[in-house]
Amino acid sequence: MSFFSEEIETMDRGELDALVDERIRYTVQWASQHSPFYRKWFRTNKIDPSTIRGHEDLRDLPVISGKTVRERQPPDTEEFEFKSVDWPNVFTVHETSGTSGNPKSFFLTWEDWNRYAEKYARAFASQNFTSGDRVVVCASYGMNVGANTMTLAAQKIGMTIIPMGRCTFPVNVITKYRPTGIVGSVFKLLRLARRMEAEGLDPKTSSIKRLVAGGESFADESRAFLEEVWGVPAYNTYGSTEGTMSGECYEKIGLHVPEDLVHLDLYNPTLDNFASQGDCGRIVLTTLLPPGGKTGILLLNYDTEDTTVVTSRDRCPCGRTHLRITLPQREAETVWVAGTPFNRVDMEKGVFQRENMDYLTGEYEAFLYGDAENTTLQVSMECLDTRTCERELVTNNFLKSFLRHQPLLYEARQDGHFDIRFNFTEPGGLEFYRITGRPKRLVDRR
Ligand SMILES: [Zn+2]
Repeated sequence: MSFFSEEIETMDRGELDALVDERIRYTVQWASQHSPFYRKWFRTNKIDPSTIRGHEDLRDLPVISGKTVRERQPPDTEEFEFKSVDWPNVFTVHETSGTSGNPKSFFLTWEDWNRYAEKYARAFASQNFTSGDRVVVCASYGMNVGANTMTLAAQKIGMTIIPMGRCTFPVNVITKYRPTGIVGSVFKLLRLARRMEAEGLDPKTSSIKRLVAGGESFADESRAFLEEVWGVPAYNTYGSTEGTMSGECYEKIGLHVPEDLVHLDLYNPTLDNFASQGDCGRIVLTTLLPPGGKTGILLLNYDTEDTTVVTSRDRCPCGRTHLRITLPQREAETVWVAGTPFNRVDMEKGVFQRENMDYLTGEYEAFLYGDAENTTLQVSMECLDTRTCERELVTNNFLKSFLRHQPLLYEARQDGHFDIRFNFTEPGGLEFYRITGRPKRLVDRR
């Protein structure tokens, strides 16, 4: 069992809460002096930053979003109003491509890089990675921070990184360098396994000892299948340019949030108060600076548009005390039918029912057609071989999983207002293969 920063990762709850409140006070004070946006906000609203004493008081400050950041940067404004250090202190610039045109700009100092890397280093250590491990990183090394800061984290642990950038690397990278881990998304890691098998290489007997799955949320069923295909544990991670890096430890009972480095509140859907204890809520994050610290971009109450549930604030069997959350899901991926919300992960659960996976690759896409009254959900699944695919079995397993605990959807289907149709394709036959970029697996065309 190893820790990257044992003292802070195992700190008693009371001490940890006090440390968080101290950092909130320092960070808010620092924001009011160095961030053009917050300097103006405190002045205009005549609020004394020293009245923010702890995390409960953060409710007195505005909840901001990606839109707020985008509207406070060129070309909308003359300066980057969230940039909180001068240029000589900015080490790197990053952009996050939103769905809307103008990407958000982020500015990281070297200090920020080290804090981001620390979060990944803690996650890697909690997944039993250690000095001597060799890890292939399949995440993009572009304007995104993830792959780059993971690479810096590896340096701190003494691991070797093989920075492939994408999961389509030649299979002989595995036989040549004998990596012990791969970071990638579930679907890409499944595809890589299929490519290895096609070249006569069994993923289960390869050098890989563990996988780190990240990039998007997925169902427990798809993780279980990934672990089966590779014969190794796969750990969840969640990260964003805004700074919410959390990782699952080897116990796999929730992702540990590095509470001393980023403060995470869960808000209700209207974003006017914290969600009730145990409820699913919107992740609203606040950068935390240690006293004396500085940052390139400072966000207080930033709405990530992701949702999660706090699984526990008690000490984890791994020894860590930092709170645990379920793998966050994107609010934008939620659709409503018959007064019931569901999302891509619910689709994935249905597809990845274990019995189905004897016939499917796991690749799928779903579309919603119709109107508010009558909706059709069309689910297309890719078969290993359409001639031998047991369509009825797959369909029944999907429906059983998808409609379980969804009485309103079940009823709407019985009444004929909600039709679910299935389509089975040959490998490579799904629509998203013809479109570049990340596949959209649940598309609302109503
Ligand atoms: Zn743990």
